[in-house]
Amino acid sequence: MRADIGVYGLGTMGSALALNMIDNGFVVAVSNRSDDKIAPFLKEADGLSGSAEGHSDLGAFVEALKTPRTVLLMVPSGKATDAMIDALRPLLSDGDTIIDGGNADFNDTRSRHAAVDGSGVHFVGMGVSGGEEGARRGPSMMVGGSAHSWAQFRPMAEAIAADFEGTPCVAHVGPDGAGHFVKTVHNGIEYADMQMIAEIYGIQRDMAGLPVAEIGAMFARWKQGPLSSYLIESAADVLAATESQTGRPMIEVIVDSAGQKGTGRWTVIEALKLGQSASAIEAAVGARGWSSEKEARVAGQDTLTLGAQSFEMPSEADLEAAMLAGRILAHAQGFRVMAVASEAFEWSLDMAQIAEIWRAGCIIRSALLDVFADAFRGTLRHDHMILAPAMASRLAETLPGLRRVVVAANLAGQPVPALSAALAWHDSMAAARGTADMIQGLRDYFGAHGFERIDADGAHHGDWG
Ligand code: NAP
Repeated sequence: MRADIGVYGLGTMGSALALNMIDNGFVVAVSNRSDDKIAPFLKEADGLSGSAEGHSDLGAFVEALKTPRTVLLMVPSGKATDAMIDALRPLLSDGDTIIDGGNADFNDTRSRHAAVDGSGVHFVGMGVSGGEEGARRGPSMMVGGSAHSWAQFRPMAEAIAADFEGTPCVAHVGPDGAGHFVKTVHNGIEYADMQMIAEIYGIQRDMAGLPVAEIGAMFARWKQGPLSSYLIESAADVLAATESQTGRPMIEVIVDSAGQKGTGRWTVIEALKLGQSASAIEAAVGARGWSSEKEARVAGQDTLTLGAQSFEMPSEADLEAAMLAGRILAHAQGFRVMAVASEAFEWSLDMAQIAEIWRAGCIIRSALLDVFADAFRGTLRHDHMILAPAMASRLAETLPGLRRVVVAANLAGQPVPALSAALAWHDSMAAARGTADMIQGLRDYFGAHGFERIDADGAHHGDWG
């Protein structure tokens, strides 16, 4: 029997996705750069409801597939992806599809798509979220590429995806690089959410002086409320864990320097290129960068003076409201970047659909995503989620808490870059009259750039004397 799909790359994600497909009754051909991963994989797949066949030869791997063929690449993004596309293309025929399920830069996906466009072979960039466990049990997947490729892959994608109340968390979000772009923004939002959780943890640890267990208990209480989400659950679990060797809370033995692989940074870069600013996400990316300057921060603590002042410790309700408002605003910035990209690249992204496929399987799954989907299905003004009536009223309830938390942290000298950035963006968007008249005046004063007048059309210059 010919295989429904070929999965190339039996690393963490490739083998988990292939096992998920086999578990759902599909026949999967697998291959890997180094042969030694194939036999253990086939052993693991033995007994699942579908079946697997392994091939160390790429030609035999391709020959094993039903036509039109679908090959899923799960290799590191960049050179490995390009090398595999080059190796596969001569072996493929009209109507066949290569899907890149790695975390690729959407610009590369667009170039790869353009390179095969018109050749008969299709190229799809697909974002996969949920890590290894998600890939094995049900990921959230954001699929780009052609309608032809989607029709081919859809039955498998819907079968293996996470399930949210009967709806699979996968969609063909748009053509060419749309899938990888949406995944990039998903990760950017994930950065902001994690940073805000870390900021709230920092406030309780440093300003309130609470022991780790009590902070963990607070996050555990929030699991049931409007903040209900995978990341809040994870925060409660991280803070509840004990290190076996020392008996100390696990969090206390972890160095406060965070790594990053690039997707958060890409979100910020693309936002800026599109004339936007996802400032809460940018703050989160920046905070990870500052976190890795450990030695400079140690010197900074001895050298710099905070000028801290007395503050009123925010209540737990205020912290919860701040996290909720911050989460809404960071998502709103992410969705705004996607709306502008959708226009620029003619993708016709459906924001409600994107919110819906993030409701299960992915890292940012949360109770709020249904609320966001409803907001996008309702009256949306100026492509801004925060201007939807339901979102504006949620923000009205939570903004006082966010404001008190940011003010208290500022007075205490406690850094809250993502929460502050979210608040500043909110306040900027709530000001019909901003301060860019001053910017325009200055630009015209020193550079004769001209400005628009409030009372006449056209470009004008000031009487600067
Ligand atoms: P991994 O465990 O390191 O596996 C990498 C796979 O790629 C292995 O099968 C490896 O083969 C193969 N490979 C490496 N270099 C290659 C090359 N030059 N040519 C051909 N094959 C090559 O990686 P992973 O975590 O599964 O990630 C795979 C992709 O999924 C990456 O793009 C990653 O960003 C993305 N992703 C990962 C996660 C996650 O949570 N891990 C989530 C979403 C997306 P060998 O066995 O021969 O080394």
